[in-house]
Amino acid sequence: MDDHDYQVSFPARGSVLGAAELAALTEVVGSGQALSAGGWRTAFERRFAKYVGTRHALSVTSGTVALELAIHLADLRPGAEVIATPQTFSATIHPLVDYDVQVRFCDIDPVSLNIDPATVEAAVNERTAAVVLVHYGGYPADMDRIVAAAHRHGAVVIEDCAHALGAAWHGRRPGALGDIGCFSFHNSKNITTLGEGGMLTFDRDEWSVRLDRIRSNQPDVEYGPPRFPGPPPTALLPWMRFAEEIYACDYARVRRPGTNATMSEAAAAVGIVQLDRLAEVTARRRHVAARLDQCIGRYAQVRLHHPPPDVDHAYHLYTFFVEAGRAVREGLVRELDRRGVEVQLRYFPLHLTPEWRARGHQPGECPVAEQLWFDQQINLPCHPGMTDAQLDYLIEAVTAALDRTLPPADPPPPADPPPPARSQPPADSVPLTDHTATPA
Ligand SMILES: *Cc1c(COP(=O)(O)O)cnc(C)c1O
Repeated sequence: MDDHDYQVSFPARGSVLGAAELAALTEVVGSGQALSAGGWRTAFERRFAKYVGTRHALSVTSGTVALELAIHLADLRPGAEVIATPQTFSATIHPLVDYDVQVRFCDIDPVSLNIDPATVEAAVNERTAAVVLVHYGGYPADMDRIVAAAHRHGAVVIEDCAHALGAAWHGRRPGALGDIGCFSFHNSKNITTLGEGGMLTFDRDEWSVRLDRIRSNQPDVEYGPPRFPGPPPTALLPWMRFAEEIYACDYARVRRPGTNATMSEAAAAVGIVQLDRLAEVTARRRHVAARLDQCIGRYAQVRLHHPPPDVDHAYHLYTFFVEAGRAVREGLVRELDRRGVEVQLRYFPLHLTPEWRARGHQPGECPVAEQLWFDQQINLPCHPGMTDAQLDYLIEAVTAALDRTLPPADPPPPADPPPPARSQPPADSVPLTDHTATPA
């Protein structure tokens, strides 16, 4: 089915924009102010830091750039180990391909799809330099145990919060739970800064200084005493003092050249308005999710992606699990598609993608992540722009598809005594060997 044929699709946009965003743009354009690195950016960052609960929030041009720079700030030495979740978008760990480090994929928790604290506790050791995780779909990871295990060994915890804006974990916000939070304001995300944008959140003042340099085209350096003291240049005008400053210091080590990752003023102005609307758009996502949970939760062979009390899901993705085997899951996906509901499966386990297989990773490394993705998981449309009529249609279509595809929940008891227990496991639990499917 073509995109435009879906009655309920994964939307063209993940957020809603309207008159307030247009008014902000009118103000920026009409202001005569600089369009880069000005007051709107500063205001957006202050408000974002306050919302998340960190000392610093620094905006950049995308979530991917935020992750790249967070991984840079972790100062990974050659030979170090990095613990990573296999169940996330490729950008979470993509920058690690460039480093001489050993990535250890730790399996996920089948309820949350987040990295399992027990697997992290088992894998962490004195070589571990960082733990990189995602709050899958907006369901916050179980952070206390993960952070405690990482910090026992001096490892930095990087949170990919691309899905988690609006979520909460025991009253605290993702992005303030580990050491560095990375947010995305991409078009598909819960709020957007005109299609692209990102933010890093953290408490360390030193990181703020380094990051502010990198994102504005200055190298990230360690300073040393001047090695070639020469005659100080003449400062013709006061602002030319910078020439004297350049002469007065030397770089002991350049950690990384700078880049330009400046969020534009127009994007930041829209970000401020979007952040004000976050509660409203998150409430709408939760409403859609609650209707779906209520409908799907009535069936015996499915499982919901439902957090415990005191964990607030932001529902960037709506997820549920079919526990009746791969064939039933596939039949259900096809039936939903036939009824005009666009289904997505997010995400193909990263350790099985070509770039990580090329680095020695293989099937069987994360059996829970593999089984859930290949046999159970389904993501349904869930976004704040969904109309009531679309939501009613979605509920009807999901109900009809489940009624039609799921086998009867309670088969009548057999007339004869049950056969002796089989030594063979049922077909559905046989470990997967064919992982040749290409990523979705
Ligand atoms: C969207 C996303 C990113 C990348 O963000 P961009 O702003 O698109 O670069 C990273 N991680 C996850 C989990 C995402 O969903």
